[in-house]
Amino acid sequence: MTTVTTSWDDGHALDMRVAELLRKHAVSGTFYISPQCREIPADERLTGAQVRELAHAFEIGAHTMTHPRLTEVSSEVARQEIVDSKKFLEDVLGSPVSSFCYPGGAFIGAHKAMVKDAGFTFARTVERFEGGIGDPFAAPTTIHAYRHYSDALGVARHMGKRFLSGYLNWDELATTLFDEIAQDGGVFHLWGHSWEIEKNSDWERLERVLAHIGKRKEVAYVQNCALV
Ligand SMILES: [Zn+2]
Repeated sequence: MTTVTTSWDDGHALDMRVAELLRKHAVSGTFYISPQCREIPADERLTGAQVRELAHAFEIGAHTMTHPRLTEVSSEVARQEIVDSKKFLEDVLGSPVSSFCYPGGAFIGAHKAMVKDAGFTFARTVERFEGGIGDPFAAPTTIHAYRHYSDALGVARHMGKRFLSGYLNWDELATTLFDEIAQDGGVFHLWGHSWEIEKNSDWERLERVLAHIGKRKEVAYVQNCALV
């Protein structure tokens, strides 16, 4: 059994373009929104109406209010950021928000407990090269839609003779990892940022990956919350 999920962080208005591509290829997923994300100019953030539109087809998850690294703020501020983002998005949506994503993947055990206490049932990290569910409050991913120069070892493990191609082209690495997981069953989790896809002119790469992993009879396409 192969399960495919995707997740898209921060809440940039270009998430609407990602959503369109996901719909086209019948791939599901979760948008993790930081309503006052300090890394996105206010006029480039998703509006409340856009968040509600996304929620028709996808899961909306919380990603703190302002996108601090939780390990760099006091535990009081961390808790407030976690709790407030859930409440804010639930007010926008009029429905519960159950998944959370740690900004920058930065967290310690105490933050996991805060996320649990706040009522979330799932939390995603930025760990890559995994093909399973793992700890539901520190869930790993398979691949980031981004070229990581620090990933040489992981790429080498999976690409073999096609190392260079997989090292330079995250879309090739993604389709290879998907094929590997689809062989024995597991979870393929692609994540990224729409603003980063735009910055790196990676829309064609993203579409290539979605065309490869989408619309397969033997695959279950789910939102992150369904991994629990
Ligand atoms: Zn983020």
